[in-house]
Amino acid sequence: MTEDLERLQKEAEAELSASKTEEELFAFRTRYLGRKGILTGLLRNVANVAPEERPRFGKRCNEIKAALTGKIEKALLEMAFRKKDGELLKEKIDVTLPGRRVRHGRLHPITMVREEICRIFAGLGFAIVEGPEVEKDYYNFEALNIPKDHPARDMQDTFYVEDDIVLRTHTSPVQVRTMEKQRPPVRILSPGRVYRPDSDISHTPMFHQIEGLLVDRGITFGNLKGVLTSFLQQMFGEETALRFRPSFFPFTEPSAEVDIRCVMCNGAGCQVCGQSGWLEILGAGMVDPAVFENVGYDSEEVSGFAFGLGLERIAMLKYGISDIRLFFENDRRFLEQF
Ligand SMILES: [Zn+2]
Repeated sequence: MTEDLERLQKEAEAELSASKTEEELFAFRTRYLGRKGILTGLLRNVANVAPEERPRFGKRCNEIKAALTGKIEKALLEMAFRKKDGELLKEKIDVTLPGRRVRHGRLHPITMVREEICRIFAGLGFAIVEGPEVEKDYYNFEALNIPKDHPARDMQDTFYVEDDIVLRTHTSPVQVRTMEKQRPPVRILSPGRVYRPDSDISHTPMFHQIEGLLVDRGITFGNLKGVLTSFLQQMFGEETALRFRPSFFPFTEPSAEVDIRCVMCNGAGCQVCGQSGWLEILGAGMVDPAVFENVGYDSEEVSGFAFGLGLERIAMLKYGISDIRLFFENDRRFLEQF
């Protein structure tokens, strides 16, 4: 009987070490130690054993049972560790891989140009003033000496919101709004978005202007030339040459277009300046007395000048950009160059 037990233990241990999977181990445990297992059956049938051998038989059975149980548990534990190791190997992190680059935000070129212009004019004593983009027809046109049937309205295609409400076509309404509230002297700079239904390589339906206005006693065209020369030379360089050409705006008299010597070819003539050697950069003039009359200023007592320029135009010339639409496409490859 005892010999049978020893053989059983050897066979069981051989079978156990041949078990490679959890399933095989569980099946082994059931076969030997389960409720209907081999060892359980032997213990249950202890009555068949000779009485004097029963204690020794029972003890051996329990020893074998304990030994097998311990080995099964150890094997299961090892299997669990091996499984975890395999998972960890599969999930390993390669710490030598380069990290992901964190991209820094940048100011938009239009913002940079606006801030630079505002800084230059702040140095000349101008205050920054802003106004509404949805504007009354009165401020956008009539108060600026452009009545309803005036041919000058054809110069500016307009988005109408209602009969008498427009998306402002220029920043000039801010002049009128300021003068209505403030007695001279006035010295303001007004940056902002303006709208006209145009779209091509040099026009977008929304673009940016900066308008300047200076009103005081004894202001002359000489003051206008001085201020604009100082501004354009700070913006484009000390050597920048200026040219004033007679022009027409309904709200200034006399009016002028201001050119600078081409920053691309330095006056030699190129594609950007149309071989002329000059670049049109802004419009300006002495405030028309009719505009002063609309805001209750005495044009015998005060005089002033106004000027307006497009921010996109300045940014295109400053950074050598050929298509205005690039400013509004938000292509990061373009924006990251500034
Ligand atoms: Zn040129």
